[in-house]
Amino acid sequence: MRYELPRLPYEYDELEPFIDTTTMKIHHQKYHQTYVDGLNKSLEKIGAASHPKYISSILSELTSIPEFGRNDINFFGGGFENHRLFWETMTPGGEGKPIRKLENAIDVYFNNFESFKKIFLEKAISIQGSGWCWLVFNQTYNKIEIITTQNQDSPWTVQKTPLLGLDVWEHAYYLKYQNRRSDYVKTWWNVVNWDYVENRFEELPI
Ligand code: MN
Repeated sequence: MRYELPRLPYEYDELEPFIDTTTMKIHHQKYHQTYVDGLNKSLEKIGAASHPKYISSILSELTSIPEFGRNDINFFGGGFENHRLFWETMTPGGEGKPIRKLENAIDVYFNNFESFKKIFLEKAISIQGSGWCWLVFNQTYNKIEIITTQNQDSPWTVQKTPLLGLDVWEHAYYLKYQNRRSDYVKTWWNVVNWDYVENRFEELPI
């Protein structure tokens, strides 16, 4: 399959005032498009333009990719899939907090939603340079946890299922927040689509 730029489930201006229209446009049309094109090219380069598996499966067994193409698949494939999920986990007028099964899991592993958000913020601002902060499901230990990844590394490459991820590359927030990454993280909760995140959690094969 050839990967294509996915459509956003909302308009570019609908996450205002939390994420500005210009940032959304450039982020989607320019940055995400670059990852789409790079992924298609990287697959061609290793002779797997029609790889039978979807990118998240490929990322979870990266060592099956020939070494000369592995970095590119990791970077562009991660970039493609990280952003695809990022758009889906946001919505105008986010619901504020989880209220179903995931709420209980958050209480178990983080005490409560407020302390979950506090830990998430600490981890997100601790990332040196570019990366992502994630709420993931750890398939080995059957638990949810917060992790960070550098650059476009995907949680799939470490056998963790991403439930919710925040892009903390400067391109995601610099126009509106400049160096204030923590303001961006705190504000972002206003647009998180918890209904979508909770569905992902409930669909896990556990
Ligand atoms: Mn990005």
